[in-house]
Amino acid sequence: MDIHEYQAKEILSNFGVDVPSGALAYSPEQAAYRARELGGDKWIVKAQVHAGGRGKAGGVKLCNTENEIYQACDDLFGRKLVTHQTGPEGKGIYRVYVESAVPIDREIYLGFVLDRSSQRVMIVASSEGGMEIEDISADRPDSIVRSIVEPAVGLQEFQAREIAFQLGLEPKLVQQMVRTLQGCYAAFSDLDATMVEINPLVITGDDRVLALDAKMSFDDNALFRHPQIAELRDKSQEDPRESRAADRGLSYVGLDGNIGCIVNGAGLAMATMDTIKLAGGEPANFLDIGGGASPERVAKAFRLVLSDNNVQAILVNIFAGINRCDWVAEGVVQALKELDLDLPVVVRLAGTNVEEGQKILAKSGLPIIRATTLMEAAERVVGAWKNDLTQGTKMRAV
Ligand code: GDP
Ligand code: MN
Repeated sequence: MDIHEYQAKEILSNFGVDVPSGALAYSPEQAAYRARELGGDKWIVKAQVHAGGRGKAGGVKLCNTENEIYQACDDLFGRKLVTHQTGPEGKGIYRVYVESAVPIDREIYLGFVLDRSSQRVMIVASSEGGMEIEDISADRPDSIVRSIVEPAVGLQEFQAREIAFQLGLEPKLVQQMVRTLQGCYAAFSDLDATMVEINPLVITGDDRVLALDAKMSFDDNALFRHPQIAELRDKSQEDPRESRAADRGLSYVGLDGNIGCIVNGAGLAMATMDTIKLAGGEPANFLDIGGGASPERVAKAFRLVLSDNNVQAILVNIFAGINRCDWVAEGVVQALKELDLDLPVVVRLAGTNVEEGQKILAKSGLPIIRATTLMEAAERVVGAWKNDLTQGTKMRAV
């Protein structure tokens, strides 16, 4: 789960990381009022969306008067911000963060990520802050400092000092840098984060080390033990298809194609997507209904897949071990009757109670296309989809 910059800054600041003073606003009036409260005569207005690259996309504005703040916000609120990380559809701006602007001497990149090969938290830092890490590693790979944290002892002071020196920090700034690094590491490990990124971390004209930007992501599977983090979720920033699924306990990933997939098990889901591609189609989603799927759960999965307007054909692929093919078949029949849909549905069942499952499908009288092997199922669903397209039939009734 991702959170907003202002939320990440509040968390990090509780862990001893210094951040500029700032305040959140939900309207242009409120933003101007917040700026007056903050005082000073230069502010930065920052669109709060779950994506980086806001600066280049016009989502970060320097303002010198309250009127400029009002104008900047008037332009931002309600608009979709498209950055290189949002995809072409962009992300809606419903909150802005107003900060006192700070004079920047130096910009540093600082990231904490999970390094899968060492199975440790890795600190990635660079003296070339402000640029995206992808650009830094392409243009200035020599500037990148990497350091792996030993979980049994956490981030040691000497290790943090070493990073500070490698970044070429002046000795008088090293202690602040150590506090920043240790604060980020503590936040990362105490809160089950999967990523902490501060870009840029700046050295100000008056020798302070400040996190000017902050991004944090958290492990969804650990959110149950951090209710205070879980409640920071902002559904306005998520793919609505994925939030609807998460709310229903299904794991769903939206993709760009037209063939909806209802599968059990992540491995089979991936194999199904590959096979659809091999057969010349493009999957619209990745949906794992899990083991022990009841007819109700299967029906729920259908509704979810159909709520995606790009879906023009559906492939149900179940290998029943814990699942039972007859239950899945009942679910399919129930869903098709309820939803009255007129797009092709291909069902491939294998495993426990497969004969009963096939019987239920056959007896239903519904135009379900059946298949025995995965390849056959993929070819049929792609074939049916193409056929419908060439016939120009209306694709959906729901
Ligand atoms: P991002 O583009 O989404 O990563 O948003 P950032 O928060 O990193 O802001 C983009 C850029 O705006 C930063 O790299 C800074 O150069 C600039 N910026 C942000 N806050 C300040 C500030 O307080 N003072 C100055 N001078 N520049 C700022
Ligand atoms: Mn940034």
